[in-house]
Amino acid sequence: MTHDPDCIFCRIVAGELPCFEIYQDDDTLAFMDINPANTGHALAIPKQHWQDLHTTPDEQLAATIATAKRVAGALQAELSPDGINLAQANGKGAAQSVMHFHMHIVPRRLGDELKLNWGMNPGDMDAIGELAKRIAVRLAET
Ligand code: AMP
Repeated sequence: MTHDPDCIFCRIVAGELPCFEIYQDDDTLAFMDINPANTGHALAIPKQHWQDLHTTPDEQLAATIATAKRVAGALQAELSPDGINLAQANGKGAAQSVMHFHMHIVPRRLGDELKLNWGMNPGDMDAIGELAKRIAVRLAET
Protein backbone atom coordinates (compact mmCIF):
# COMPACT_ATOMS: atom_id res chain seq x y z
CA MET A 1 0.00 0.00 0.00
CA THR A 2 1.58 3.30 -1.07
CA HIS A 3 0.90 5.96 1.53
CA ASP A 4 2.22 9.49 2.04
CA PRO A 5 1.88 10.59 5.68
CA ASP A 6 1.95 14.25 4.58
CA CYS A 7 -0.88 13.82 2.03
CA ILE A 8 -4.28 15.10 3.18
CA PHE A 9 -6.16 12.45 1.17
CA CYS A 10 -3.93 9.64 2.51
CA ARG A 11 -4.74 10.92 5.99
CA ILE A 12 -8.45 10.82 5.17
CA VAL A 13 -8.07 7.23 3.89
CA ALA A 14 -6.22 6.32 7.10
CA GLY A 15 -9.03 7.82 9.22
CA GLU A 16 -6.72 10.47 10.67
CA LEU A 17 -8.81 13.31 9.19
CA PRO A 18 -12.59 13.46 8.80
CA CYS A 19 -14.50 13.52 5.54
CA PHE A 20 -18.09 13.34 4.36
CA GLU A 21 -17.69 9.78 3.10
CA ILE A 22 -20.25 8.53 0.61
CA TYR A 23 -18.73 5.29 -0.67
CA GLN A 24 -15.73 3.01 -0.40
CA ASP A 25 -14.58 -0.35 -1.67
CA ASP A 26 -11.27 -2.20 -1.47
CA ASP A 27 -9.41 0.18 -3.79
CA THR A 28 -11.26 3.50 -3.72
CA LEU A 29 -12.95 6.08 -1.51
CA ALA A 30 -15.51 8.75 -2.43
CA PHE A 31 -16.39 11.78 -0.33
CA MET A 32 -17.88 15.23 -0.67
CA ASP A 33 -15.67 18.16 -1.66
CA ILE A 34 -15.70 20.72 1.16
CA ASN A 35 -15.21 23.61 -1.28
CA PRO A 36 -17.94 22.61 -3.70
CA ALA A 37 -17.98 24.06 -7.19
CA ASN A 38 -21.68 23.19 -7.21
CA THR A 39 -24.09 21.41 -4.87
CA GLY A 40 -23.19 17.72 -4.75
CA HIS A 41 -19.55 18.12 -5.84
CA ALA A 42 -17.82 14.88 -4.86
CA LEU A 43 -14.37 13.32 -5.21
CA ALA A 44 -13.33 9.76 -6.03
CA ILE A 45 -9.79 8.68 -5.13
CA PRO A 46 -7.68 5.53 -5.08
CA LYS A 47 -6.88 4.57 -1.49
CA GLN A 48 -3.23 4.24 -2.36
CA HIS A 49 -1.12 7.34 -2.93
CA TRP A 50 -0.40 8.15 -6.56
CA GLN A 51 0.33 11.74 -7.46
CA ASP A 52 -1.41 12.09 -10.78
CA LEU A 53 -2.63 10.46 -13.99
CA HIS A 54 0.90 9.73 -15.17
CA THR A 55 1.92 7.73 -12.11
CA THR A 56 -1.32 5.92 -11.24
CA PRO A 57 -1.41 2.29 -12.43
CA ASP A 58 -4.06 1.53 -15.03
CA GLU A 59 -6.04 -0.81 -12.78
CA GLN A 60 -6.19 1.90 -10.10
CA LEU A 61 -7.41 4.41 -12.68
CA ALA A 62 -10.05 1.91 -13.78
CA ALA A 63 -11.20 1.35 -10.20
CA THR A 64 -11.39 5.10 -9.56
CA ILE A 65 -13.39 5.91 -12.67
CA ALA A 66 -15.75 3.03 -11.87
CA THR A 67 -16.34 4.62 -8.47
CA ALA A 68 -16.80 8.03 -10.11
CA LYS A 69 -19.44 6.46 -12.37
CA ARG A 70 -21.26 4.99 -9.36
CA VAL A 71 -21.17 8.35 -7.57
CA ALA A 72 -22.38 10.15 -10.70
CA GLY A 73 -25.34 7.76 -10.84
CA ALA A 74 -26.24 8.46 -7.23
CA LEU A 75 -25.91 12.23 -7.74
CA GLN A 76 -28.13 12.02 -10.81
CA ALA A 77 -30.75 10.10 -8.87
CA GLU A 78 -30.62 12.35 -5.81
CA LEU A 79 -30.23 15.81 -7.34
CA SER A 80 -31.49 15.45 -10.93
CA PRO A 81 -28.86 17.83 -12.32
CA ASP A 82 -28.96 18.87 -15.97
CA GLY A 83 -25.55 17.24 -16.44
CA ILE A 84 -22.45 16.02 -14.64
CA ASN A 85 -18.81 16.86 -15.38
CA LEU A 86 -15.92 14.61 -14.47
CA ALA A 87 -12.75 16.66 -14.08
CA GLN A 88 -9.23 15.71 -13.11
CA ALA A 89 -6.14 17.92 -12.74
CA ASN A 90 -2.48 17.02 -13.22
CA GLY A 91 0.12 19.48 -11.99
CA LYS A 92 0.06 23.04 -10.73
CA GLY A 93 -0.52 24.41 -14.22
CA ALA A 94 -3.75 22.45 -14.35
CA ALA A 95 -4.70 23.79 -10.89
CA GLN A 96 -4.05 20.51 -9.06
CA SER A 97 -3.93 21.49 -5.39
CA VAL A 98 -3.90 18.03 -3.76
CA MET A 99 -1.14 15.83 -5.10
CA HIS A 100 -3.06 12.55 -4.76
CA PHE A 101 -4.88 11.41 -7.89
CA HIS A 102 -8.58 12.27 -7.71
CA MET A 103 -11.58 12.70 -9.94
CA HIS A 104 -14.04 15.51 -9.42
CA ILE A 105 -17.69 14.62 -9.97
CA VAL A 106 -19.53 17.91 -10.44
CA PRO A 107 -23.29 18.16 -10.95
CA ARG A 108 -24.17 20.90 -13.42
CA ARG A 109 -27.21 23.11 -14.01
CA LEU A 110 -28.02 24.75 -17.29
CA GLY A 111 -26.82 28.33 -17.10
CA ASP A 112 -24.67 27.84 -13.99
CA GLU A 113 -21.72 29.33 -15.91
CA LEU A 114 -19.27 27.30 -13.85
CA LYS A 115 -15.68 27.90 -14.91
CA LEU A 116 -13.37 24.89 -15.18
CA ASN A 117 -10.84 26.36 -12.74
CA TRP A 118 -13.35 27.29 -10.08
CA GLY A 119 -12.17 29.07 -6.94
CA MET A 120 -12.13 27.35 -3.57
CA ASN A 121 -15.06 28.66 -1.57
CA PRO A 122 -15.81 26.79 1.65
CA GLY A 123 -19.24 25.17 1.59
CA ASP A 124 -21.92 24.94 4.28
CA MET A 125 -20.68 21.88 6.23
CA ASP A 126 -24.14 21.07 7.63
CA ALA A 127 -25.64 21.07 4.14
CA ILE A 128 -22.75 19.02 2.72
CA GLY A 129 -23.02 16.51 5.56
CA GLU A 130 -26.78 16.16 5.13
CA LEU A 131 -26.43 15.64 1.38
CA ALA A 132 -23.56 13.17 1.93
CA LYS A 133 -25.90 10.97 3.97
CA ARG A 134 -28.49 10.96 1.18
CA ILE A 135 -25.91 10.14 -1.51
CA ALA A 136 -24.35 7.40 0.66
CA VAL A 137 -27.77 5.77 1.04
CA ARG A 138 -28.17 5.81 -2.75
CA LEU A 139 -24.72 4.24 -3.16
CA ALA A 140 -25.47 1.54 -0.60
CA GLU A 141 -28.51 0.60 -2.68
CA THR A 142 -26.59 0.20 -5.97
P1 AMP B 1 -7.65 19.88 -7.14
O1 AMP B 1 -7.54 21.36 -6.88
O2 AMP B 1 -8.10 19.51 -8.52
O3 AMP B 1 -6.35 19.18 -6.76
O4 AMP B 1 -8.79 19.35 -6.20
C1 AMP B 1 -8.59 19.13 -4.82
C2 AMP B 1 -9.94 19.26 -4.19
O5 AMP B 1 -9.85 18.70 -2.88
C3 AMP B 1 -10.43 20.68 -4.02
O6 AMP B 1 -11.65 20.86 -4.75
C4 AMP B 1 -10.63 20.83 -2.52
O7 AMP B 1 -11.77 21.57 -2.21
C5 AMP B 1 -10.75 19.39 -2.07
N1 AMP B 1 -10.38 19.15 -0.70
C6 AMP B 1 -9.24 19.52 -0.08
N2 AMP B 1 -9.24 19.08 1.19
C7 AMP B 1 -10.40 18.42 1.37
C8 AMP B 1 -11.00 17.73 2.47
N3 AMP B 1 -10.40 17.65 3.66
N4 AMP B 1 -12.23 17.18 2.30
C9 AMP B 1 -12.85 17.27 1.11
N5 AMP B 1 -12.35 17.90 0.03
C10 AMP B 1 -11.13 18.47 0.17
